[in-house]
Amino acid sequence: MTEEARGTDPRARDLPLDAHMHTDQSSDSLVPIDVYGALAVERGIAELAITDHIDFDPRLPNFNPDPRARESIVRAAAERWAPHGVAIRFGLEVSYESGREDEIREHLRAHHYDFVIGSVHVGPGSPYRASRVASWVAGRSLAEIVAPSFNEVIAAARSGLFDVIGHLDSIKRYLLPHVTPAQLAERPDLYEPVLRALVESGTGLEVNTSGLRQAAGQTYPSAAVVARFRELGGQRLTAGSDAHRPSWFAHGLEAGYRIAAQAGFRDLAFRRGPGKPVSVAIPERFRASGTAAGAATSPESRVAER
Ligand SMILES: [Zn+2]
Ligand SMILES: [Zn+2]
Repeated sequence: MTEEARGTDPRARDLPLDAHMHTDQSSDSLVPIDVYGALAVERGIAELAITDHIDFDPRLPNFNPDPRARESIVRAAAERWAPHGVAIRFGLEVSYESGREDEIREHLRAHHYDFVIGSVHVGPGSPYRASRVASWVAGRSLAEIVAPSFNEVIAAARSGLFDVIGHLDSIKRYLLPHVTPAQLAERPDLYEPVLRALVESGTGLEVNTSGLRQAAGQTYPSAAVVARFRELGGQRLTAGSDAHRPSWFAHGLEAGYRIAAQAGFRDLAFRRGPGKPVSVAIPERFRASGTAAGAATSPESRVAER
């Protein structure tokens, strides 16, 4: 495996934030939190958001976790790593379902997180599951194909519950090989109502770089969609690697920062607990030059992380 495939870009010594990752508190990760602390020191990444999953569908594995136990693990790690120059925040990635919005709202009222991502995942009833996606796609227009996911993303944004929407179009990976990312890129109109919902609700957009290690081969969403978000007046953007393994830590994050900078963002928007979002400056070198595409690497794995 090459250095690039492991995501260990030796220049990545100045990235201020990775706002999305999973530890062994998520069902699809085995990474102890201190592994990320050590990697952040090694790679010079100043701040991490630990965003373990919560599901509200009782059939799913991250249903009903213990937020207090999780928080004590994250806060204790934050104390251990602060002297080494790494800030660790207590975040959450909610599996958003419009039909369970009341439960989600109640959870977020009862438990306080530093930073909350709302993501639409491929749940048990989803048409994008591997066993159903071929028949879902057959005979449908592209607009009809993406509607179940994109409509949920719109509802998530309009709920006002989340700091950012995670991996906005990760259906790109589930639609392969029936619909390719290139085909979706030819229909920017399908993204317009989604981006408008984010802008109008003040919800942030995440540049999720996990797509660079997956078959999609591009970020969720692509550089063009991030640029359009900015054009429409989008103000809040984060970047996250969505690591579930040590080797995925900060993978592609450089490309994510470059995409943000080239869309015109000078800062990422983050939240560190109660109150307004804070600005995290994008390092100057990303604003100066480079191409937006980033280094797309060969897909490392097809494991079913979400
Ligand atoms: Zn995630
Ligand atoms: Zn996710």
